[in-house]
Order: sequence, then structure tokens, then C-alpha cells
Amino acid sequence: MTTRRNVVVIGGGYAGVMAANRLTRRADVDVVLVNPRAQFVERIRLHQLLSQTYSPSHDFAELLAERVHLLVDSVTRIHPDERRLELASGGELGYDYLVYAAGSTSAGAQVPGAAEHAQQVGSLEEAQRLEAALHLLSTDDPITVVGGGPTAIETAAELAERGHRVTLAAEALGATLHPRARRWLARRMRRLGVHLLVGPGSRVTAVTAQEVTLADGQPVRSALTVWAAGFGLPDLAARSGLSTDAMGRLRTDETLTSIDSPHIVAAGDAAAPSGLPLRMSCQAAVQLGPQAAETVLGQISGEPPRPIGVAFVALCLSLGRRAGLLQVTRRNDAALPVHVPGRGGALVKELICSGTLAQLRFEARHPGRLDGWMSDPGRTRRLAVSSGATQEMDPER
Ligand SMILES: Cc1cc2nc3c(=O)[nH]c(=O)nc-3n(C[C@H](O)[C@H](O)[C@H](O)COP(=O)(O)OP(=O)(O)OC[C@H]3O[C@@H](n4cnc5c(N)ncnc54)[C@H](O)[C@@H]3O)c2cc1C
Repeated sequence: MTTRRNVVVIGGGYAGVMAANRLTRRADVDVVLVNPRAQFVERIRLHQLLSQTYSPSHDFAELLAERVHLLVDSVTRIHPDERRLELASGGELGYDYLVYAAGSTSAGAQVPGAAEHAQQVGSLEEAQRLEAALHLLSTDDPITVVGGGPTAIETAAELAERGHRVTLAAEALGATLHPRARRWLARRMRRLGVHLLVGPGSRVTAVTAQEVTLADGQPVRSALTVWAAGFGLPDLAARSGLSTDAMGRLRTDETLTSIDSPHIVAAGDAAAPSGLPLRMSCQAAVQLGPQAAETVLGQISGEPPRPIGVAFVALCLSLGRRAGLLQVTRRNDAALPVHVPGRGGALVKELICSGTLAQLRFEARHPGRLDGWMSDPGRTRRLAVSSGATQEMDPER
């Protein structure tokens, strides 16, 4: 008789959905995905809620393989020794293997007044609240976007294109871009009407309902402040006594296996593999999700898990609906002196966003097929073999 394995995935974001679908390659694995809501949230499009040009939530039914059971709930604690989870609803869930893909959150702003007066854009609820707050403003009311990274840049551009008076305040703008791309970005942001306050003196040190204060002491009038300076992490792993890095990402070895438990793997923004942090991104999450699943499948099949391989190709920013910036990168995410600005950049960004969703849908219907073509079909097939159980494999392979 076949021993069935119960694998629970925490988090239905890019990494968790890719992992859950990939796990269905073995017919003797039961997969449960725990997520607080019944819809998948396309976080990379959340800023488009502000211009009402896109609705970033999708029914999980179109993105999950039929054999993935969705449990709408939140995990409140992991008990690694007992292999059991506590749920917000009061229930419990046992597991043989756990994929920790709880993602990231908006960064908690550590300056006085920010928690009370600043809005954020990192989750669906935050973006919806921010969009509602915009309706209470006139287009003359000044908005300050705090931060100089991708989320702040995309948010500021979206708001400016919608006709708002926007100031972006940050120590640096697009710090990881190549200098040529960065210069183009600054020109484009100004053309959109964004007032750039960039430099060490422009770090925001306090927020009130009417203004922000900069490190150089300058007050900047701000009827609405959006804190978009980086990401934070859910504290579930740390709260459960698992080892995390300083940000709260679950510490794993090079196969994404937790350093505390061989039954827990991590993927996406919530993973810190081998102390070598990857850019928290959808780009890394869609690559790490399947690799976390393969590590679990490897353990079940008796195949040694493989070290992960993540290749970055670009950083792509939308700058409103009519322009974008594609910064080509090396595999290790370092910027190359190649970028695609303007309408070309916007077109590529749109293709990446819609292509990512299409990739999730494809993986749901044909788990592992793309990787099987591209990397090691023999290994992909071996990991899917389940002794005595019906195999659900692509007919060609
Ligand atoms: C406005 C914006 C634009 C972005 N643009 C880009 C971009 O262009 N390119 C790019 O590569 N990246 C972009 N990102 C970053 C990208 O969205 C994240 O890096 C990516 O979503 C990480 O994927 P993930 O699967 O690890 O986590 P997430 O997508 O954050 O998903 C995690 C899931 O886990 C759930 N969860 C959390 N805690 C629990 C719990 N205790 N129990 C159960 N479920 C839980 C969450 O509700 C969520 O559904 C952008 C982010 C934002 C906010």
C-alpha cells in the first residue's frame, strides 16, 4: 500500500502557488495551501489599483491544480517538533512536509507619526485603503511618497499620471539601476510632474497629518503620505522559534531546507537561503517556489535535494501607464549598461506581468513541464514517480 504524504504550503503568493502546483506531480502527495483569502493577489500590480487600471485579485480556481486543496485561514504558529500548525480559526493542521512561503509585507515605518499618518501599498487591503483616501483629496493637495526603490517609484509615477501633486522623498533614487538608466528615470519622473527630493538630507524623519520632516530639518507639506520604503516580513517563523535572518526570513541551506527542521522548506520573499539574500521579488519567488517543491519531492523519492539556482534577467519598472524602464541585469542581479526606456519599457513590463500570471496558470495545468523541457527531464520524471500510485504525468514524457 502506498504511504500518502501530507504537504502544507503556507501562503498563496507567487512562490506558494508555484510550489503547491509542482507538488501535485506526485500522485501520492496531498497538498493543502493555506492562505488568508480565497483570491490570489497579484502584488506586482497593486499600484495599478491607484489609477483604477487593473483589478489585481484572481480566483484561485484558475491558478491552482485541481489536486491542491485551498484552506482559507492563517497559520498563527508552527510547531516543528510535532509537525503541526495552529490556525487563526482555532483549528490545527498536521504535516509531513511544510513549505513556508508567507511572503513579505510593507516595511514598518520606524519614524514618529508614520504608523498613525502614513498609508502603504504593499498588500491588497493597504492599496484599497490608499485608493479610498485619494478620493478625499483634491488634485491640488500635495502627496509625499517616501522611498526611492521600485515600489515607491511605481507608486509615485502612477499617482502623478493620475493628476496628483507628488513629491518623492528618498536618500537615493533607483539605487540598483545602472547610472545611465537612473539618469533617464529621474528625467522621466520630472516629466511626469514628480518633485524629486533625493539625497541624504531627504530621508524622512517624521510624519504628521499635514507634513513630513526631512533629515535636513526641512518640512514638506503633505496632505497624504505613502510609506513605500522597502518590505518587512511576517513574524510567523520567528514567533514559532525557527531560525530567521535579521529581517525575519526563514534561514535555510542551499536546498531551501530549514536549518532547524528537515521537514520544512522555504520559498519566495520569506526565505533566506544560505545567508545569501536574494532580491525580494516575484522574479525570484516564481523560481524558488518550484525548487522548494522539488526539494520536498526529492526527500520523498530518496533523490538528494539540489542546491537552488536563481537567475535574474532584469528589473522592470512601470512609470504610469505610458512608460516603463527595463534595466537588464546579470544573473546575479547586478545592473548592466543596457536598459529599455519609455513605451518599449512599458510594453515589456506589461508582457512580464501578464506572462507571470500565464506561467502560474500553465504550471497548474502542466506541473513541471516547462522545467522538464529546459533542465533535466530525467530528474523531473524521477521526482514524480510514486510507487504503486497512479502517475499524473505529461503523456509525452
Ligand atoms: C506595488 C508592488 C509592485 C511590485 N512589483 C514587482 C515587480 O515588478 N517585479 C518583481 O519581481 N517584484 C515586484 N514586487 C515584489 C513582489 O510582489 C514580491 O516580491 C512577491 O509578491 C513575493 O512573492 P511571495 O510568493 O514570496 O510572497 P507574496 O506574494 O507576498 O505572498 C505571500 C502570501 O502568503 C500569505 N500569508 C502570509 N502570512 C500567512 C500566514 N500566517 N498564513 C497563511 N498565509 C499567509 C499572504 O497573505 C500572501 O497571500 C512588487 C511589490 C509591490 C508591493
